[in-house]
Amino acid sequence: MELRAGVPDGPIETKWERHRFEMKLVNPANKRRYTVIVVGSGLAGASAAASLADLGYGVLCFCYQDSPRRAHSIAAQGGINAAKNYQNDGDSVFRLFYDTVKGGDFRAREANVYRLAELSVNIIDQCVAQGVPFAREYGGSLANRSFGGAQVSRTFYARGQTGQQLLLGAYQALERQVGLGKVRMFSRHEMLDVVLIDGKARGIVTRDMVSGKIESWAADAVCLATGGYGNVFYLSTNAKGCNATAIWRAHKKGAAFANPCFTQIHPTCIPASGAHQSKLTLMSESLRNDGRIWVPLTAGDARRPDQIPENERDYYLERLYPSYGNLTPRDIASRAAKRACDEGRGVGPGGLGVYLDFADAVKRLGEDVIREKYGNLFEMYERITDDNPYKVPMRIYPAIHYTMGGLWVDYNLMSTIPGLHVLGEANFSDHGANRLGASALMQGLADGYFIIPYTIGHFLASTKLEKVDGSHPEFRKVEAEVGQRIEKLLGIRGKRTVDSIHRELGKLMWDHCGMARNAKGLEQALAKIPELRQEFWENVNVLGENEELNQSLEKAGRVADFLELAELLCLDALERQESCGGHFREEYQTSEGEALRDDARFCYAAAWEHVEGSRPKRHEETLTFEHVHLTQRSYK
Ligand SMILES: Cc1cc2nc3c(=O)[nH]c(=O)nc-3n(C[C@H](O)[C@H](O)[C@H](O)COP(=O)(O)OP(=O)(O)OC[C@H]3O[C@@H](n4cnc5c(N)ncnc54)[C@H](O)[C@@H]3O)c2cc1C
Repeated sequence: MELRAGVPDGPIETKWERHRFEMKLVNPANKRRYTVIVVGSGLAGASAAASLADLGYGVLCFCYQDSPRRAHSIAAQGGINAAKNYQNDGDSVFRLFYDTVKGGDFRAREANVYRLAELSVNIIDQCVAQGVPFAREYGGSLANRSFGGAQVSRTFYARGQTGQQLLLGAYQALERQVGLGKVRMFSRHEMLDVVLIDGKARGIVTRDMVSGKIESWAADAVCLATGGYGNVFYLSTNAKGCNATAIWRAHKKGAAFANPCFTQIHPTCIPASGAHQSKLTLMSESLRNDGRIWVPLTAGDARRPDQIPENERDYYLERLYPSYGNLTPRDIASRAAKRACDEGRGVGPGGLGVYLDFADAVKRLGEDVIREKYGNLFEMYERITDDNPYKVPMRIYPAIHYTMGGLWVDYNLMSTIPGLHVLGEANFSDHGANRLGASALMQGLADGYFIIPYTIGHFLASTKLEKVDGSHPEFRKVEAEVGQRIEKLLGIRGKRTVDSIHRELGKLMWDHCGMARNAKGLEQALAKIPELRQEFWENVNVLGENEELNQSLEKAGRVADFLELAELLCLDALERQESCGGHFREEYQTSEGEALRDDARFCYAAAWEHVEGSRPKRHEETLTFEHVHLTQRSYK
C-alpha cells in the first residue's frame, strides 16, 4: 500500500486554487452519465449529495435513520467556525489555519488545514443564502462567540442548535434534488459492505432495515460520509446509532485507517449517574464563554458550592492557563478536570465532577442575557439533573465526544481504494490529534459543498471505468457474504445481550485507552479484546429474524465491528510512544503534566492496512510543517 497524499506544489495560499484549475473537468452533458453513491446524510453527506446532484451527476444517497434530517449532525450545539473577521479582532484565514494546526498538536496535514480555513468563509455565505438563521447582532450583522483554542471570536451559531439549523439547510438542498429526480434517497438502508471491481469502489451492498432485503447498488464512485466511531466506548455524547460499520468494512476491503487512537474527550458533559446509562449528554463548549470552571481548593470539601467562599475555590483553568483561561482546548481542559478529580477535589457523587459556574455572568449580564444565549442548553441541563443552572453551578465531567481518526484520504478526499471518497468525521483529515470546538461542522460542510464536487469530477474524468451494474458477479458474492454474516449472528442464540458485551468493551476502552493511556493498560486491553470478541461470537443472543425491523440485529452487526476496531485503536495507541492532543500516554508528559510529543519519531499520520488473518500493517505519512513551526503547545 502506498500513501500518496497528492498535495499540490506551490505556496500554501494558492495550492487549492491552482489545483482546482489543474484538475480535469467533466462536461455538463457527460455528468448525467455518471452515478455517485453517497452514504450518509449528515452535514457532510447531505451537502455532498445536494452539490453533486446540482452539478448534474446522478446520486444515490443512503442513511439508516427514517429521514436524512435525523442524522447525528442535528445534535451539534455550539457553532461553526469561519475566518470572516466580522469582529475585527484580528482573525484571518491564516490565523484559523494556525490555530487548527496548533490545536491539533501538529499531527494534521498543513495543506488540508489551510484549505479548510480558506473555505470556511464560503460556508457561511452558502448557509446564509439557504436561510440558516444564524444569531445576529442588533444591527443585523452575524454574531460570533468564542470557542476553545482561539483568542478571537469566530464561531457562528444558532442558539444551541447550530447543527440542526445547518442540517435543515443542507436537507432542503438535498430534498430539492430529490424533487428534481437527481437524487434517489434511501432512508432506513444500512450499508453493510463496499464492492470493489478491478480494484475500484463500484458500489455497495445494503440491508433494508424494515424488510431485511439485501440489495446491491452500482455506481462510478462511492462517498462515505458516515460519521465518527466514538461509540466504540459505549458511553459517549454521540447518538446511540452512530457506528463504524461503513468505514470498518471499507477498511477490511483495503482502505487504510489513519490514527484510530486520536479520540476526543470533551471536558463539559453531564457526569454519568450510574451503570444503567446508555448515553452521555454534552454541555456545549460555548458555555465556557461565560461559565467559569472550578473545584474546591481542598480535597474532600463536601460543602455546597454556595457555601464555599471565593478564596477557597480553585478556578484551575484560569490559574494554569491565564491567556486562554476557560477557553483552553478540549484535551487540555479535560485532563485538568481529571487531575483535579484524581486529587480528590472533584464534586458530586463519586467525586467525578467539576463546577461550571454562571454566577458571575448572571451578575454581570443579567439572567435574561444568559437565557438568550444559552436558554435551551440550560433547560436541557435542568431536565436531566433537576438543578437550575441559573442558581447553582452545573456539574460537568469529560466524556468521549469525537474521533479525529478515520479512513485515510489524500488531498482529494480519496481513500486508498480508488473511487472510494471519505468525507466529514469519517475521514482523518484536518484535526490532527485534537479537534478545536466548532471545527467539525466546518470540515463536514467544506468537504461536502466545496471540495468533493471538484475532486470527484477529476477522478471520473481521469479514470477509465467499465460499465457495471448490480448483476456483476462481485455484487452477488458480497451479497452472499453479507447474508451469511447475518445468518451467523442470528444463529448464535447465546446467553448475553449485545448491549452487555458492548458495555463491557466500552469500560475496557475507557479504563485503558481513555483520557490517559499507558503501555501496561493497553497491553491488557489488547489481550482482553480478542477474548471478548470470542465471547460475542459464541455467546451473544440476537433475537428475532432478518426479514423484519430488528434493532437487536442492527446493534449486533455494529458491535461486532467495534470489537475489531477497538483492537486497532489500542494497537495504534500502544505504538504511538508519545503524547499529543487527545492521545495522552502517561509515560510521555512534561514536568507540568502536559502532553509531550516526540517529533523526531512520530511526526506522521499512522495509516493501518488490514491484513486478513494477521497483524495489521502500519504505514506512515510523514507530516511536514513549513508554516506553523513545531513547538511545544502552550496556552499559558
Ligand atoms: C452532542 C454533540 C454536539 C456537537 N456540537 C458541535 C458543534 O457545536 N460544532 C461542531 O463543529 N461540531 C460539533 N459536534 C461534532 C459534529 O456534530 C459531528 O462531527 C458532525 O456533525 C459529523 O457530521 P457527519 O456528516 O460527518 O456525520 P453524521 O452527522 O454522524 O452523519 C452520518 C450519516 O451517515 C449515515 N450512516 C452511518 N453509517 C451508515 C451505514 N452503515 N449505512 C447507511 N448510512 C450510514 C447516518 O445515517 C447519517 O446520515 C458535536 C457532536 C456531538 C456529539
